[in-house]
Amino acid sequence: FEKLGANRVVDRVDLDVDFDDRVESWIDDVIAKFKEATGAGQAHANVTPMPGASAQPAGAQAPASYSRKNPFAAEVLTNVVMNGRGSDKEVHHIELDTEDSGLTWEPGDSLGIIPANDPDVVAELIGALGAAADDEVTGIDGEVSLEHALTHQYEITTLTRPFIEKYAERAANDELNALLAEDAREQLAEYIDGRFIIDLVEDYPIEGMAGADFVRLLRKLPPRLYSIASSHAANPDEIHLTVAAVRYETHGRKRHGVASAQLADRSDDANLPIYIDHNKNFKLPTDDAAPIIMIGPGTGIAPFRAFVEEREERGAEGKNWVFFGAQHFRTDFYYQTDWLRWREEGLLTRMDVAFSRDQADKIYVQDKIREAGAEVYQWIEDGATVYVCGDANAMAADVHDALLDVIGEQAGINAEDAAGYLKNLQKEKRYQ
Ligand code: NAP
Repeated sequence: FEKLGANRVVDRVDLDVDFDDRVESWIDDVIAKFKEATGAGQAHANVTPMPGASAQPAGAQAPASYSRKNPFAAEVLTNVVMNGRGSDKEVHHIELDTEDSGLTWEPGDSLGIIPANDPDVVAELIGALGAAADDEVTGIDGEVSLEHALTHQYEITTLTRPFIEKYAERAANDELNALLAEDAREQLAEYIDGRFIIDLVEDYPIEGMAGADFVRLLRKLPPRLYSIASSHAANPDEIHLTVAAVRYETHGRKRHGVASAQLADRSDDANLPIYIDHNKNFKLPTDDAAPIIMIGPGTGIAPFRAFVEEREERGAEGKNWVFFGAQHFRTDFYYQTDWLRWREEGLLTRMDVAFSRDQADKIYVQDKIREAGAEVYQWIEDGATVYVCGDANAMAADVHDALLDVIGEQAGINAEDAAGYLKNLQKEKRYQ
């Protein structure tokens, strides 16, 4: 537009996960400019508040409302591993106490957690820097100790190109500079794979760099989102989560996920800062009589436990069909007793399971969808909404292909028309 002669209203700002500080002032600037340009000084700006921003008119007494910037401190009530012995997975069912928080949520919403880095990882990094835990640094909101900043304010594990670039400016190391060359993208990707910030610091130490200088290179620790696995109507004072503990070893060092390991290992006697992340694009149909098909292998099952619980609570009469997949029936069938009870009570109309490693050949949810193609298509024709949750890369794409095949075959239409049919479902918010 600018090239074509348009004028910028305000300058563009590029923001990553730590958008919340800048975005509010940017929106204010935009609104002020439009008011100025249109002379609409008195008009109300009809702007949807940012998640976390208060929608309260100025002057009114706002009720205590918790948000990303003002999280609620929740106690962990329950933390149990759902997998049986011998499983490759470690998935925790976690229940948080939200009593008196005033938090509300709907099935499909996520819980934001502001995590803290592992004290051992922090100590190791401080050691590698040759700094001291109580060195004073300028953190996000002022002077704090290096230990505090690295624990609560900054991302200190994930290694990214922008970080390496900033670090390399200080390091002045030929080998590191070579990794950042335009024609060395593959080598850099290979170096980053399986390595954390600590590895870079050890491989390319910077003599005499102060903790305060190091902190300036880091990005803000972003919150982590988990699908809420329980219904507010059924459990108004609790939030349930389904959390896979991420643990692995690379380049001779044990690694773990920041939030998942905190939840799994260190959440018993500490309160967790949480907030609700609403998701209007993943919602039950407003019509309680409408059928739903839920496809959620692995921890992707989480929101569907909330969906079915909610429908039970509401007495919703629409039919419910769940597709679940995991490695082994014996060790990895999450919430099995819930599903069996709901199946017995008739709330769960149908459940199809794909345990991928219980036989010689892999079976996945998409195989089960294809097998039940006629019924899946009939449900969709009868008004069902189809939901997919889980691994967004491989699984969701494979399920999408299976749905295309089923629709093509059952409706007797070609691939292009089947794609149009599914696009249309998406537009109607019946494929989420
Ligand atoms: P997982 O246990 O690794 O996988 C579940 C099942 O899916 C296994 O049987 C697996 O088979 C199979 N599978 C592998 N590739 C597949 C494919 N291309 N198509 C269909 N099935 C496939 O799953 P997970 O570790 O729980 O991961 C679930 C995903 O859900 C993660 O990406 C997570 O980020 C995401 N998620 C989680 C939440 C939450 O609240 N926790 C919410 C939304 C999304 P094999 O292993 O035998 O190949």
